[in-house]
Amino acid sequence: MLFYSIGVYVGTNWITPDLDIISTPTNKHGFIWKLFWTPYRWAHKHQGVSHTFMGSLERVLYISPLFLITFALTGWNKLVLIISAGIVFGIIVANIAHVTLDKIVILIIY
Ligand SMILES: [Zn+2]
Repeated sequence: MLFYSIGVYVGTNWITPDLDIISTPTNKHGFIWKLFWTPYRWAHKHQGVSHTFMGSLERVLYISPLFLITFALTGWNKLVLIISAGIVFGIIVANIAHVTLDKIVILIIY
């Protein structure tokens, strides 16, 4: 539950569907973070595929090298794999909540 919660936090504040534009999650974590997500931003129009379930999976895939490096450095430790799965699940749930709320806001405004 702790790692899931961490994932929800990360998925709400760091790895969000709004990385497809220059947004708060893009800007508030520094230049390296902004640079890391630049190819992703170039490849996605705002609220396109990035704002779908596939977009969530795509972002997890985009950061997967970070997980793979961590797994390799820890010798594919089972605990690290379980922690990572909880974090990824939290990120995906937070991203789905984001997309759902975006759609609700669009429905209310238009
Ligand atoms: Zn959004």
